[in-house]
Amino acid sequence: MAWRCTGNTNVELVTNLMHHGLITSETVAAAMKSVDRANYVLDKEHPYEDSPQSIGHNATISAPHMHAHAAELLLPYLRPGARVLDVGTGSGYLTSVLHRLVGPHGGTVVGIEHLPALTALAESNIRADGLGAALDQQAIVLVTGDGRLGYPENGPYEAIHVGAAARTIPPALVEQLASPGRMVIPVGTYSQRLMQVDKSARGEITQKDLFGVVYVPLTDRPKSSV
Ligand code: SAH
Repeated sequence: MAWRCTGNTNVELVTNLMHHGLITSETVAAAMKSVDRANYVLDKEHPYEDSPQSIGHNATISAPHMHAHAAELLLPYLRPGARVLDVGTGSGYLTSVLHRLVGPHGGTVVGIEHLPALTALAESNIRADGLGAALDQQAIVLVTGDGRLGYPENGPYEAIHVGAAARTIPPALVEQLASPGRMVIPVGTYSQRLMQVDKSARGEITQKDLFGVVYVPLTDRPKSSV
């Protein structure tokens, strides 16, 4: 399924994902067309494959159809002015897509990553993609830290995306969800499930098990990391 959507250009990749029903929202398609995946991958020969790719440091940029899926699940909560948290920013790709969805309407996106080298990579990728002004104006905020603790300084968040698999749902992230708000998070170790956690306007929490996934783990920062 995944490889069939590969394109020769970024627009072709997104168009193919739409034709195969892997993107159904025009809004998400437009946001993904405006974020050139070539600026976020290391393998510049194959930027438009619908597959995950290593970005070093045991991290991967997720497959475009997974990014699309996450953005579509969060879309109802990406209203004008929305505050968004992207845990495990990695390449910065989804942080930029989320910015394209909320930025023009006054929203902010915080990307939190625990490896300083990857925070730096995300920053240079996002600048290379033409979003330096969004960083300078703090419409996109990049933070190095443990994403399991969230980033209460800029919360609460209408939407939280977690890009690495948690053993269990971190309570701090549920706490930092706005009312109403939605979090999409892979949970599990050997077998992982993508979970949707919703907080209602009255603060009630509901969880929905979406489907099986494979993500790198949400971990402690290695002692030797840079
Ligand atoms: N959405 C990113 C996913 C990168 S892979 C992308 O598509 O590019 C997952 C990322 O989570 C890695 O960059 C990894 O370093 C980061 N990570 C793992 N544990 C973390 C933690 N406790 N806090 C913050 N980031 C973490």
